[in-house]
Amino acid sequence: MPEGDALHRAARRLQALVGERVEVETPHPRAAVTQIAERLDGRRLLGVEAHGKNLLLRFDGGYTLRSHLRMSGRWSLVRRDSARVGRPWLVLRGTEHEAVLWNGPVLELREAAVRRLGPDILARPPDYDAMLARLRAVDQRRELGEALLDQRLVAGIGNLWRAEALWAAQLSPWLSLNEVSDDELRAVLAESHRLMQRSLGGIRSARHVYRRAGRPCPRCGEPIRSRGQGDDNRIAYWCPGCQRGPSPPK
Ligand SMILES: [Zn+2]
Repeated sequence: MPEGDALHRAARRLQALVGERVEVETPHPRAAVTQIAERLDGRRLLGVEAHGKNLLLRFDGGYTLRSHLRMSGRWSLVRRDSARVGRPWLVLRGTEHEAVLWNGPVLELREAAVRRLGPDILARPPDYDAMLARLRAVDQRRELGEALLDQRLVAGIGNLWRAEALWAAQLSPWLSLNEVSDDELRAVLAESHRLMQRSLGGIRSARHVYRRAGRPCPRCGEPIRSRGQGDDNRIAYWCPGCQRGPSPPK
């Protein structure tokens, strides 16, 4: 019977696939009816962990697959396209390996509340394509600074890093999305990731604009400005001298 340590071993083996976009198949007819393959195929596997007697596999888009092994279930990790006999419940196929679930009697796909969250800015690597797609799917008259704080578009950026990332990318929070190119959006997302990753790693970076209203911009010397933005009226900080874009509406 699979015990906790067997689950932890399975979780460790499956780490080989974490970060990859996986091809998903459910060869066993009882698994096929779950439509798990249709919903997970091509998604990125973000994490695998043993939790109690369950193995939890997190995918982008907010999906979590729960696998309980009961008495007979077993996960194995083999080379991609290895020969096999029989029909496993589930196959997750990456570029080099595939994870195969045999006799997995309990397989449940959850779309938790996190489904409504955008891709995680701290994922390694972050899914910039998915963030861009979400940022482009909303009303393009929305302001860049406000959109960056919308957790349904990109999850994890707070007020401090919004201000610093926009300064680093030299873009005003008051630009509307339709005034910003895809490359510029990618640049500000990449700056957010870089700054937040450094901060997580314990490296304290200098604040250039955040809570520095009225003081000179370290890059161009113009006084930093601040103003509430969006429905939540979170305070945006920016330099009108070197961050491209308009002033806030009156
Ligand atoms: Zn400046």
